[in-house]
Amino acid sequence: MLPLKDPSLLPGQCLVAGQWVSGTALIEVTNPATGAVIASVPRLGAAETRQAIEGAHRAWPAWRARTAKERSAVLAQWYTLIMANQDNLALIMTSEQGKPLAEARGEIAYAASFIQWFSEEAKRVYGDTIPAPVASQRIVVTKEPIGVCAAITPWNFPAAMITRKAGPALAAGCTMVVKPASQTPLTALALAVLAERAGVPAGVLSVVTGSARDVGDELADNPLVRKLSFTGSTEVGRQLMARTAATVKKVSMELGGNAPFIVFDDADLDAAVEGAIVSKYRNAGQTCVCANRLYVHSKVYDAFAAKLASAVAQLKVGTGVDADVRIGPLIDDKAVQKVEQHIEDAVSKGAKVLTGGRRHALGQSFFEPTILSGVTQDMLVAREETFGPLAPLFRFDTEDEVVAMANDTEFGLASYFYARDLGRVWRVAERLEYGMVGVNTGLISNEVAPFGGVKQSGIGREGSHLGMDDYLVIKYINMAGI
Ligand code: ADP
Repeated sequence: MLPLKDPSLLPGQCLVAGQWVSGTALIEVTNPATGAVIASVPRLGAAETRQAIEGAHRAWPAWRARTAKERSAVLAQWYTLIMANQDNLALIMTSEQGKPLAEARGEIAYAASFIQWFSEEAKRVYGDTIPAPVASQRIVVTKEPIGVCAAITPWNFPAAMITRKAGPALAAGCTMVVKPASQTPLTALALAVLAERAGVPAGVLSVVTGSARDVGDELADNPLVRKLSFTGSTEVGRQLMARTAATVKKVSMELGGNAPFIVFDDADLDAAVEGAIVSKYRNAGQTCVCANRLYVHSKVYDAFAAKLASAVAQLKVGTGVDADVRIGPLIDDKAVQKVEQHIEDAVSKGAKVLTGGRRHALGQSFFEPTILSGVTQDMLVAREETFGPLAPLFRFDTEDEVVAMANDTEFGLASYFYARDLGRVWRVAERLEYGMVGVNTGLISNEVAPFGGVKQSGIGREGSHLGMDDYLVIKYINMAGI
């Protein structure tokens, strides 16, 4: 058992249409740092998912009928309770996901910020009036909640990927059924406990843990679900888009990335190294906005590589609950194998390991923070998201060349570059085919800005005043006979 101040945050049950439900079959949750089983949650299936959807459908009319101010107050209370339980929730998260406790506390604050932001935005769903082409008519445009929503979320941000969807959905007047990743269901269920405590009415938010296939298919197929929001791999996103086409659901897709991180010769190199560390090694490299390809100008290549290597040497690897740990374990052995495969492939084609390169002496799924130099576009690391603590350094000489290499991918989520020349900053920011561009920063995610990708990285935006649109539909009313 985890040493929680409030053990009721681990209900061991799912919240289905306002009822806490146990499972006959169970999913064991393991701590990736130790391999130990820390808890189990129900392995629910299509039948319970259907109950959750039907409950959300029943709860919808009363929830949408509340004033925006009333919904806002409920969300504000949820935010307060999440922050009051920041330490408990962070410990749960570190135990099931592996990230260092300081990062887990940070994620809880980040997750809560979406609930707070959308509790405010709930009150600002404005419409339009449009001058009519006929004198006797008036045209009004209103925005309405789309209805029952489904969310399928990944394990790398067990709290924030839920609140970034549930926040705007509930604020808009929608109801939602969440299926969290089976690796990290405990944080999700703890959030459900707090939502109920905050006064979210029965059925408005359900959290169903279970097989991705059974639960996911029901969420994608059920005609009562009007919208599906998914964060995860591009491969599964494609399958879900195809499935939801049968019932013409609205979708939001936050999929894979392959972020370029470009260091020009006029960059502040120390700042660039600091940005690269945050962008590359946060969550052990397991974020969809992690720098995946580091392009460094020839003139500063050796200096940057040396500075990065000495900064990486300072990153302490270990169990997330230990003080000063900066890099925890990867989520599982499959994740480690992918990093190994990327290193092997690069080395076989001529890259050099500057530092790291192997499984860590701690065992389990710990991996040494790694830097590769001499990486080129024909290597696997250039094409695929590594999702691990591996920084591959590519060399370039001109702006045109590096922009072409950066854009040479089917992905388009986050991108970063370091430069000082004002003309270059504008040119490159405009030419990068990405939904997000960090200029002289490695950290771009926050609740006030629109997060999302272009190309095969996704559809829709989360966070910001624009994030509400994904949960709203437009109605146009023509009042004639005036
Ligand atoms: P990751 O590589 O981050 O594990 P996945 O796309 O496999 O990404 O998983 C993200 C979420 O999607 C998880 O909640 C997972 O259980 C769920 N999932 C995986 N496969 C499917 C599927 N075929 N249908 C619906 N959901 C799925």
